[in-house]
Amino acid sequence: MDKVLVTGGAGYIGSHACKALRAAGFEPVTYDNLITGWEDAVQFGPFERGDLLDRARLDQVFATHAPVAVMHFAALSQVGESMQKPGLYWQNNVEGSRNLIEAAVDAGCRNFVFSSTCATYGDQDGVVLDEDSVQLPINAYGASKRAIEDMLRDFGAAYGLRHVIFRYFNVAGGDPDGEIGEFHRPETHLIPLMLDAIDGKRDALTIFGTDYDTPDGTCIRDYVHVCDLVDAHVLGLKWLIDGRESRVFNLGTGSGFSVREVIEHSRAVTNKAVPYTEGPRRPGDCTKLVSGSTRAEAELGWTPTRSTLDQMIADAWRWHQTGHYDK
Ligand code: UDP
Repeated sequence: MDKVLVTGGAGYIGSHACKALRAAGFEPVTYDNLITGWEDAVQFGPFERGDLLDRARLDQVFATHAPVAVMHFAALSQVGESMQKPGLYWQNNVEGSRNLIEAAVDAGCRNFVFSSTCATYGDQDGVVLDEDSVQLPINAYGASKRAIEDMLRDFGAAYGLRHVIFRYFNVAGGDPDGEIGEFHRPETHLIPLMLDAIDGKRDALTIFGTDYDTPDGTCIRDYVHVCDLVDAHVLGLKWLIDGRESRVFNLGTGSGFSVREVIEHSRAVTNKAVPYTEGPRRPGDCTKLVSGSTRAEAELGWTPTRSTLDQMIADAWRWHQTGHYDK
């Protein structure tokens, strides 16, 4: 069985990717430092604990497993934190990715699937982003991901490292079987925070900014179901294994929901009130991020099947109620 090295495989998206890889006939090898990940989520293949900044450990893991490809999710990903501690993001995300990319090249592994972000586009209100949209990140998180994209292009030109880059935003939902789901330490994301507020595990949700130039004054985001998202990653992996060229794909639904709309849908799906207050804007937040996925659908044959907002909230709510969150 071909192995795929999955960095961040103990995290929310990475663990769902491992499950999808296993179902597609690959053996996912998780590489994770467990700072934000969770060992219980590593259920679908071997686990190698390690840090991206530890080049010797990376070399050892490549030598042990000889993966056919890397799927790179491990990253710090909080927009607000990235504005307060940019050095952390440049060190962990950019420097860590350089280690990983060099280790892959030195080990002769030339297929690389990278989890990037629509945050690389910055604040382009009114535009449905496509892959050729200009990338003007407004926070250090987006800037660090754009730098890694540039690095992949340079290493592609120099060493033939072929890569598929996925840019997406706001992943939600969870495994329909309930084996894994969304969790972050600390939790900063809208939907899990809201579900916690609904059942009293946390204080009321704070809406970050109600004076944006949107119909209801709150930020608009494009939410994609995690299972649809990782399906695209498996298709991207097969694209590379089939010998296709390096390519960038946006993954989105093309429709955006405001924070207030997400609250409304959550109230309807859970049939419970959402306690919330209104607060100031969070530094680094874009007004509106909506991404089409025409290219992924046309070229990869990607067909999202679970990415309605209600389905995502329902899946997240089911996972939430299992109590895994409370561990
Ligand atoms: N948000 C919010 N309150 C929170 C967390 C998030 O109002 O406690 C908003 C945030 O400003 C953004 C949207 O919800 O507009 C999604 O934020 P999240 O942190 O989930 O993802 P991001 O867009 O930062 O990747």
